[in-house]
Amino acid sequence: MTVGVLALQGDVREHVHALEAVGATARPVKRLADLSGLDGIVLPGGESTTMGRLLGIFDLLDPLRALLGDGLPAYGTCAGMILLAAEVVDGRPGQELLGGLDITVRRNAFGSQVESFESDLDVEGVGDVHGVFIRAPWVERAGPSVQVLARVGEHPVAVRQGHLMATSFHPELTGDTRMHELFVRRLVATEGGRP
Ligand code: GLN
Repeated sequence: MTVGVLALQGDVREHVHALEAVGATARPVKRLADLSGLDGIVLPGGESTTMGRLLGIFDLLDPLRALLGDGLPAYGTCAGMILLAAEVVDGRPGQELLGGLDITVRRNAFGSQVESFESDLDVEGVGDVHGVFIRAPWVERAGPSVQVLARVGEHPVAVRQGHLMATSFHPELTGDTRMHELFVRRLVATEGGRP
């Protein structure tokens, strides 16, 4: 299975390593041609406003929206979660999103005093996961077809909706590949089947 990693900005290399560790072939995605024949795609952490702008500059916004709409499995971490959200609170004016997940995210939700923190999570279908949060969003609203996989307090920080999943935290930074395994085995392998 070939899984793309959006490689315009952010922690691309870490996701490539995690995907390869779970047996996928990882392909950095920088331009339109890199999107062809993918079985899934990872949207990394970084800066969602910068990534949104670069997606526009490289003419990837509409093609990627179309692929996600056609069912291409995607996993967004942190800034990637923001990109997959239908709506963002505290975004920049005119911030471009890819959408797909019926969620509203609050950007930089945990506040400036705790820009980064770590927390042990109970992720549905995975178990105990050590979550690394860096200026992370949380899910403020989740639509009825969104499954919440983990929370910090009352706030969802891991969600799945059909072929899409997203986490506020960065499993690619911990060496624990179970979230990538979940994505590749449960979403890419079963929801994939790209035309
Ligand atoms: N705060 C960043 C944003 O708004 C996300 C941070 C991250 O991806 N680690 O895009």
